Amino acid sequence: MRKILIVGAGQSGLQLALGLQSQGYEVTLMSNRTADEIRSGRVMSTQCMFHTALQHERDLGINFWESQAPKIEGLGVSVAGPESQRLIDWLGTLDGYAQSVDQRVKMAGWMETFAQRGGQLVIHGAAVSDLDYFSRTYDLVLVSAGKGELVSMFGRDASRSPYSEPQRALAVAYVHGLGPRPEHPDVEAVRCNLVPGVGEMFIMPTLTTTGRADILFWEGIPGGPLDVFQGVKDPSEHLALTLELMEKFLPWEYARATKVELTDANGTLSGRYAPTVRNPIGRLPGGGLVLGVADVVVANDPITGQGSNSASKCAASYLASITEHGDKPFDEAWMRQTFDRYWDTAQHVTKWTNAMLGVPPEHVLNLIGAAGQLPPVANRFANGFNDPADFESFFYDPDKTAAYLASVTDASPVPAGE
Ligand SMILES: Cc1cc2nc3c(=O)[nH]c(=O)nc-3n(C[C@H](O)[C@H](O)[C@H](O)COP(=O)(O)OP(=O)(O)OC[C@H]3O[C@@H](n4cnc5c(N)ncnc54)[C@H](O)[C@@H]3O)c2cc1C
Repeated sequence: MRKILIVGAGQSGLQLALGLQSQGYEVTLMSNRTADEIRSGRVMSTQCMFHTALQHERDLGINFWESQAPKIEGLGVSVAGPESQRLIDWLGTLDGYAQSVDQRVKMAGWMETFAQRGGQLVIHGAAVSDLDYFSRTYDLVLVSAGKGELVSMFGRDASRSPYSEPQRALAVAYVHGLGPRPEHPDVEAVRCNLVPGVGEMFIMPTLTTTGRADILFWEGIPGGPLDVFQGVKDPSEHLALTLELMEKFLPWEYARATKVELTDANGTLSGRYAPTVRNPIGRLPGGGLVLGVADVVVANDPITGQGSNSASKCAASYLASITEHGDKPFDEAWMRQTFDRYWDTAQHVTKWTNAMLGVPPEHVLNLIGAAGQLPPVANRFANGFNDPADFESFFYDPDKTAAYLASVTDASPVPAGE
């Protein structure tokens, strides 16, 4: 059977490894950390995944935490005004629920499953020189090492990467004890709170190592009032800062956060990175070729919560490209086609995410505002997180936005007085 090496045991590498393994491929998975190190390590993401991405996991029978993880049925948006009042507040309904399973739980569990099923697991932080050797002994080498150092093998695609600097400073805290939202206490939801000119806060339920929890996630415009987490090493200080900023900018969210405590000493994360699309094929010093997967080749800012979704979609797409290729060589042309097939989906994620990082134009503000009066608009916006290609029809072009809003208003006129 064909021998495949996968370097990096995250969402994409593990999903692909388990998928290939179930089809009889001889898979070696290289990880720079053991399952226990991942499980007891630092949180890595907020990893909210929507229906299509979750379905890829169900298709492989690896949705092990689906019954325990909170089912996120709504996605809401609030916009803060200059006096920290809530100018806009609505909740859209997702057609299929979303879920967040702490990557510490999921990746550790998947890694153990891969090994139990007879997979070859190598604990080693791969260097380019290792890959040079392995590219000669495997039929295919896939690099799914996220935003780590191995990305240096893949050149930046400037035509697809409008930003060369990080656009947000990220600060995450996993907490227990967050109160329900008074407006919809029984609906689990992701809340996107926009603070114009300052940044965003995302709040969502998750399943973590200590059970159900909530994540408080600030995205701050660099140099602004939220960009204060760099160098904060003490987790309690990180949480105190998170809450202080919530009290200042989002008092309605702070009101339900007064009793929170961190889930664990590793429940905080801060950092920043520049969103980057790369050339998908890495050329090794010895002439061998490797194919980049997910974040290695398309890393978007988490402002739209798409990276894990994209990693799942990339793994599913590559799995199909590999199995459909049969016994033919995994040459450069195949690698290019394989990436292009994934890019058909990924390009919409990149376009939308990069748009959300900029200052919203007037027609987008109108759209977000109109969603407060028009539930179909709120629902469509919310479901765009599952399929960002849909934004093409109503988000970017002012004329298309106006036509869409007119069509919804005609179908369901806003009651007088609103
Ligand atoms: C703060 C934050 C919030 C986020 N929120 C969301 C969200 O809500 N929804 C969403 O969909 N996405 C979100 N994302 C993005 C998402 O987490 C990533 O895009 C996704 O995990 C990428 O998957 P991946 O498989 O490409 O890489 P990763 O999940 O990063 O996995 C890469 C793995 O490779 C390992 N590795 C690195 N170098 C080596 C090496 N040399 N040798 C061996 N192993 C190596 C790493 O340790 C890691 O285990 C968020 C990201 C951040 C930072």
